[in-house]
Amino acid sequence: MPFASVIVDIPTRALREPFTYAIPDELVSELSIGCAVLVDFGNRPAVGWVIDLLMSTELERVRPLRSVLSAALFDSTSALLALEVARDYCAPPIEALRLFLPPGAAPRLAKRTVDGVETWALEEPSVGPVDERWVERVPESDFRPARNATMQRALLDALVEGPVSAAELRAALGSVDGALRRLESTGSVRIEERRRFRASHGAGRPAPRHGALSDGQTEALRAIANATVGETILLDGVTGSGKTEVYLRSIESCVERSLSAVVLVPEISLTPQTVGRFRTRFGASIAVLHSRLGAGERRDEWDRIASGEARVVIGARSALFAPIQNLGIIVIDEEHSSSYKQGQAPRYDARSVAARVAKARSAVLVLGSATPSMEMREAAERGELTRIALPERVGGGVLPVAQIVDMGVEFNAGHRSMFSRPLTQALLETAEAGHRAVLLLNRRGFASFLLCRECGYVPTCESCSTSLTFHDAGRPRLVCHHCGAIHTPPATCPDCGGPYLRQFGAGTQRVEAELRELLPDTPIVRMDADTTTGKGGHERVLTEFESLPGGVLIGTQMVAKGLDYPDVALVGVLNADTTLHLPDFRSAERTYQLLAQVAGRAGRGDIKGRVVIQTYWPDHPAIRSAAFHDPESFYLDEAITRKELRYPPFGRLANVVVSGVDEAAVKRSAEILAAALKASAGEKIEVLGPCTAPLARVKRQHRWHVLVRGARDTSLSSLVCEALEEVPRADGVSLAPDIDPADLL
Ligand code: ADP
Ligand code: ZN
Repeated sequence: MPFASVIVDIPTRALREPFTYAIPDELVSELSIGCAVLVDFGNRPAVGWVIDLLMSTELERVRPLRSVLSAALFDSTSALLALEVARDYCAPPIEALRLFLPPGAAPRLAKRTVDGVETWALEEPSVGPVDERWVERVPESDFRPARNATMQRALLDALVEGPVSAAELRAALGSVDGALRRLESTGSVRIEERRRFRASHGAGRPAPRHGALSDGQTEALRAIANATVGETILLDGVTGSGKTEVYLRSIESCVERSLSAVVLVPEISLTPQTVGRFRTRFGASIAVLHSRLGAGERRDEWDRIASGEARVVIGARSALFAPIQNLGIIVIDEEHSSSYKQGQAPRYDARSVAARVAKARSAVLVLGSATPSMEMREAAERGELTRIALPERVGGGVLPVAQIVDMGVEFNAGHRSMFSRPLTQALLETAEAGHRAVLLLNRRGFASFLLCRECGYVPTCESCSTSLTFHDAGRPRLVCHHCGAIHTPPATCPDCGGPYLRQFGAGTQRVEAELRELLPDTPIVRMDADTTTGKGGHERVLTEFESLPGGVLIGTQMVAKGLDYPDVALVGVLNADTTLHLPDFRSAERTYQLLAQVAGRAGRGDIKGRVVIQTYWPDHPAIRSAAFHDPESFYLDEAITRKELRYPPFGRLANVVVSGVDEAAVKRSAEILAAALKASAGEKIEVLGPCTAPLARVKRQHRWHVLVRGARDTSLSSLVCEALEEVPRADGVSLAPDIDPADLL
């Protein structure tokens, strides 16, 4: 095999294809797919990764590889998947390939100046495996230490139960090195280097399993067991319907057949409780990958997976790229979560990549959610996946029906507090009874819009059907961040003529202050970006709330996720419609999901739950459907709007954000890009913009964007990729393509 196909580690979009190098005879034996190699690229050396081995090439001049830098770190399937991810998401292949590399394992080249001459120097990988010394008694030895050799005696005693690491002996007994050497020389102990695993793994006790499964669970298990390779099953089940139990059993049956499993959960729910549930079933054969691990710990988990020691991998979206062999099942819990879309390049959607991984590695994909995404619902409609409904909670808990409060009516009746009369009443009663309440302030920091406090009217763009964003800098303006239309804000409400067309939004701190006036003797815990900073921030706040006998938890979106207290008697939503006005076509879906999830927090135990939803838009389908547990009508209604405007899942989108400090340069690049896109778009594809992005400035960077919308069966990534190449590189301007974006901010 004299040639290697190599992805060179120079991250530029222009390098879309691998390069071919000849393999010198002396390197043939140590080279395989997955190795890092040193190659010549142009007039500089570069690190590259071997993704394929070739018998021949049609190229005339092929340069030889210089040297092999590492053992194989990924397999041929990962190499193929990396190329697919790069192609799907318009990313340089090296960026996609990096997802599949063990953390910190990549060798790097750095430019150095030695005696005035620039050279390239190879840097060792930043993270590698570490070894440590272990000490073990030699059972056959009949050596007895002298009476006064107390340290030797202590050491032999400490080793009675089995091998112990030298570090642990040192921690327990002090300076042990001399005594250990002597014991080793007498042949009474053996010392050996062993791999040290930095992530801690308690073995966990196996937990008893539930007896009878519900009908829905049985059906789900059967569907998963009978699924063909590459097939997708959607578990559409309310919170508490036993989805996790279905995952656990399906994984068990995989493990029994010596197959492995990957379980993805949103980062925020990767808590000790979630992990604990898997650990009690699968003990030490689980590996956990989350963002709080240090690079060394991550590397160790990666190696435990590669060696087959860990069979069940649980982690955030990047766990998909772990080196798992004999994969049987991939589970994605809370499938609708926006955390499955990576926010930086490569901007991949873990659900689509999981489908590719499942096909490539012959596994079954299981998606679960209480509020499935429009995409998956529509895929089920089209018969592209099998949907199993679990409409009831196991153990028969009932979902509380919510009360919707029209804040416009409250305002017109002279009640201008942020707590309506019904919510005030409910809060007082809950506090009186000593029960817990959760209050959700539905808020996304930056978005500001105008709202008529009398009728709830919000100005929207007629052609894009999204809210206009209010900008107050200099002259007040209303801007559509999809198409760029600019309007002058009306002085009075165009709908009802009322004078209270105002900017909308309040922070959690103000809610807390007002609540303290209402309930001076009740403990109040606030959960928002400020109170949850640092490692384990969420858990700290939740533990505090749990330790209280009663009290109120106030929070932003984060309170809706994963909380499971048996005794939350009241869930209040202060402003259900805020997210409906985000300039994003998914705003209704996100609002519905948020409200349905948060309403599911009430009444999970013996206490009857109560939900109060305050809104200026009481008849919006997202709000009504969430309040009355009627997902069908929400999906039907939402599908009509999406179809009309050809938004996903009835069309495809790509969004390219152009950003930089110099706004004129940003605008110029965005215009060239839009022109290039329009020139090759063809009939089925429409190009919107360029215009400023909804988040128009982030950290001194100006942001513009161009939106591409196409029919469902079009592929936008190659179009976008080619158009990007036509934009001349401008200093300080960056172009970020996002194919199938999760939001358009
Ligand atoms: P979900 O993942 O849909 O929220 P879970 O799997 O967490 O649901 O189940 C909710 C609760 O019901 C858990 O405490 C779980 O242990 C329990 N449970 C699940 N299946 C059964 C069953 N068949 N019988 C009894 N209890 C069950
Ligand atoms: Zn518009």
